[in-house]
Amino acid sequence: MSIGVAVLGSTGSIGRSTLQVVARQRERFRIVALTGHSNKDLLAQQAAEWKPAFVGLVNGGTASCLVEAATHPDVKIVVNGIVGAAGLEATLAALRAGKRVALANKETLVMAGELVTEAARQGGGEIVPVDSEHSAVLQCVAGRRPTELARLILTASGGPFRTWGPERVSRATVAEALKHPTWTMGKKITVDSATLVNKALEVIEAHFLFDVAYGQVDVVIHPQSVIHGFAEFVDGSVLAQVGFPTMELPILYALTYPERVPDTGVRRFDPVAAGTLTFEAVQLERFPAYGVGREAARMGGTAPAMFNAANEVVVQLFLDEQIPFGRISEVLERVVAHGHPGDATSLDDVLAADAEARRLAKEFACS
Ligand code: NDP
Ligand code: MG
Repeated sequence: MSIGVAVLGSTGSIGRSTLQVVARQRERFRIVALTGHSNKDLLAQQAAEWKPAFVGLVNGGTASCLVEAATHPDVKIVVNGIVGAAGLEATLAALRAGKRVALANKETLVMAGELVTEAARQGGGEIVPVDSEHSAVLQCVAGRRPTELARLILTASGGPFRTWGPERVSRATVAEALKHPTWTMGKKITVDSATLVNKALEVIEAHFLFDVAYGQVDVVIHPQSVIHGFAEFVDGSVLAQVGFPTMELPILYALTYPERVPDTGVRRFDPVAAGTLTFEAVQLERFPAYGVGREAARMGGTAPAMFNAANEVVVQLFLDEQIPFGRISEVLERVVAHGHPGDATSLDDVLAADAEARRLAKEFACS
């Protein structure tokens, strides 16, 4: 009997890659639910191809369709490929219902890491990362005891502005920010990769996924995106996970974890073709928003939720050409410095912090 899968955000980059992976694994998995937001034509095409029991369109319909898809009785695995805070309720509901959540929607863990991990504990659900760096770490630590782990190192491509001077970066256009050197992804995460906010979100994501202190999560710039993450153990040994950049491999692993299954769909690794691999330290002057995100992490409580919410607002304003690229980090810094982070142990507190940060970000962006 095949395993039922719900794909939330099936019309997006992660959602489409998930369907490509499942198309090669039809004897193992079947699509039970699909959801989209604005792209109803693509959703209709996908529904016609996969004939899922449930199809939900959020825009024009109701957001509760995400929870309905995520908790459908025939669903065992929920791939959450929604962008932003909108994915939170569905993640919580799926975990409480005992499902596996294959999580791409990192914003969910950043804004409510404590609630999400608690929901998994309560309901018997599990979170398996889709994010390539976290999938890499999981592949390195699978089968090890937590006490054997000393440190994680997440890699970052450095995005399109890695070699630009700060002055030029502050005036970068939307088209320039969307030209990612190694990955093709949705617009929001592509901008987050240019500011390196994405990596700050991933540090917070790693903290909650692997239960490691922030001081044990380092980041290194690795422009080729061939090594996705490292795990250092207490004896000093370091393991890394390697491969040409593709999300299909981490998606497949999140579906089959802890097992591996044969798949011929992704380009096989070839060290000679990969060529020279290089590493650089993150320069905070070049990526100030990354430093702000780490500061929000250090503050804890609702500070990461505020950082995330403010970022969602300013990224949208930048994409709408309402603010220059350089304003993104300025606003994030002001919101994180201004906020009074409280406990993030209730959904109401988290949602209130999220709303307050959105209000502040709009105010600061326009002033
Ligand atoms: P996309 O923008 O390509 O896709 C987002 C999906 O979410 C679409 O299906 C979209 O629907 C849907 N959506 C948008 N807004 C809402 C909403 N308010 N409610 C419900 N659904 C909504 O993004 P990506 O696929 O690139 O990213 C998705 C998530 O995965 C993000 O959290 C990102 O950080 C993470 N991720 C992505 C990677 C990648 O390679 N793309 C890599 C690692 C992580 P529609 O298109 O119909 O409007
Ligand atoms: Mg990533």
